[in-house]
Amino acid sequence: VELSNQIAAGEVIERPASVVKELVENSIDAHASQVLIRVEQSGLKSIEVNDNGDGIAAEDVEVAFAPHSTSKIATDRDLFAIKTLGFRGEALASIASVSKLTVLTSTDGKSAIKADFAGNTMLSKETFARSKGTTMTVQDIFFNTPARLKYVKSLHTELNRIVDIVDRLAMGHPEISFRLIHEKKDLVWTSGNGNLQQTIAGIYGRTIASHMLSFENSDTDYEIKGYFSKPDTTRSNRSYMSMILNGRYIKNYQLSSAVVRGYGSKLMIGRFPVAVIDIKLDPNLVDINVHPTKQEVRLANESRIADLISEGIRNRLSDQNL
Ligand code: ADP
Ligand code: MG
Repeated sequence: VELSNQIAAGEVIERPASVVKELVENSIDAHASQVLIRVEQSGLKSIEVNDNGDGIAAEDVEVAFAPHSTSKIATDRDLFAIKTLGFRGEALASIASVSKLTVLTSTDGKSAIKADFAGNTMLSKETFARSKGTTMTVQDIFFNTPARLKYVKSLHTELNRIVDIVDRLAMGHPEISFRLIHEKKDLVWTSGNGNLQQTIAGIYGRTIASHMLSFENSDTDYEIKGYFSKPDTTRSNRSYMSMILNGRYIKNYQLSSAVVRGYGSKLMIGRFPVAVIDIKLDPNLVDINVHPTKQEVRLANESRIADLISEGIRNRLSDQNL
């Protein structure tokens, strides 16, 4: 195993959820309309991500696993134009360096390639058959870097992190159907029909989604659409308020506070709503000094967007006499 890859892997691949994130982002970048994720033992035993995307050409399979190899090109300016989620070409090499990985991929739905990797070495490569798309199977993560397992928390925590990652990617992509199965149990299953409220149903359940209110509030620079729970459906932490910026989940304290502010005194102190706020804006208005892999993102004119959010929620609640 190449040491440099393991070091790189330390930055990207900290836990099973990081594997899920990288693999699913690759499926999204490959224009998949369906992504099926199966995990066993919170991902520590196995993680399989199956998509119906572009596939990887036979001659490119080995290259895709080489460090710093990417088929995606992005400049700093592009990053928030959100062409692709990946751009560094590190993920597959990093994952393969700390796990046993099998790829089965086809670009045409006729011939397919199946290749096995362990600790970055390609062990076998054979022709196969499958429909167009890619299946990556990652087993025994950290089998060769047992020290890394120390940082892995309880199975429960690790599974929650995986669910979080899938939730966030699904919210940003209502046009893609995501299904997450943990040991035969469906945890997330979104329709992929483009409808955000139905996507929320696939994440938080139909009951919560069907009772949510919605608003749209736009001006020349921003297009904001939100779904939010009535004041009687709340949670004891902020993590059920999600901000999606141009299809990417972001963390932004000012904007999630704006959601809370929209409820005014209708929300009990220490309680937070379930909300998904979808913000579309010109990528040039996003602070490009913030690296897109960081979730905390600064926006030009953040307070204007915050006002549109709280105003949208406040007006809708008073329409409903809530
Ligand atoms: P990056 O996403 O930054 O390019 P990765 O290491 O994640 O780097 O992936 C390397 C390359 O492998 C990608 O650029 C892409 O060409 C190919 N690839 C990975 N996963 C898939 C997939 N599910 N479908 C199609 N191509 C893929
Ligand atoms: Mg990638």
